[in-house]
Amino acid sequence: MPCSNCHQHNRSCIVDRSKSLSCSECVRRKVSCDVSIDPDSRLDKEMEKSRQLEEEEEKLMREIATLQSRLIRTREQKRHSLRRQKEYFDRGMADLAEEMSGPSNDVVVEGSEESNWIQELNAMSPGSLERLAASVGQGSGDANPQSLS
Ligand SMILES: [Zn+2]
Ligand SMILES: [Zn+2]
Repeated sequence: MPCSNCHQHNRSCIVDRSKSLSCSECVRRKVSCDVSIDPDSRLDKEMEKSRQLEEEEEKLMREIATLQSRLIRTREQKRHSLRRQKEYFDRGMADLAEEMSGPSNDVVVEGSEESNWIQELNAMSPGSLERLAASVGQGSGDANPQSLS
C-alpha cells in the first residue's frame, strides 16, 4: 500500500526501513508519511524484541559467568577448609594416639597387670607354690621309673 502522498501523486512508494519509517518520496519532500507500517513494523518490533532478548541473554550469561567463578572460588575455599579440617583432625588423632601409647600409660597398664598378678599370687593359699613344684617333680619322677621298667 502506497502512502497517501505517493497515492495522490501516483508515485511508487518505496520504504527503506533501515533509513527511515517514511517512504523515500516523503523523505525527499520532507513531508510526513503515513505509509502503512504493517507488516514491516511487526518485523521491526520482532527484531527489536529479539535484540533486547539477546541483550538480556548476554547479561544473564555474564551473571552466570560471575556466579560460576564465585562458585568455583567458594568450592576451592571449601576444599581448603576441609583439607585443613582433616589435617587438624589427623594431628589431633596423632596426638591422642601418642598420649594413649605414651610411656605414662604403659606404666599404668603394666602396673595394673602386675598388681593383678600379685593379687592372684597372694590369693593362693600358703604352700600352694610348693605343692605345684612338688606335683611337677612327681610327674617327672613318675615318668622316669615307667620308662626304666
Ligand atoms: Zn510513499
Ligand atoms: Zn510517504
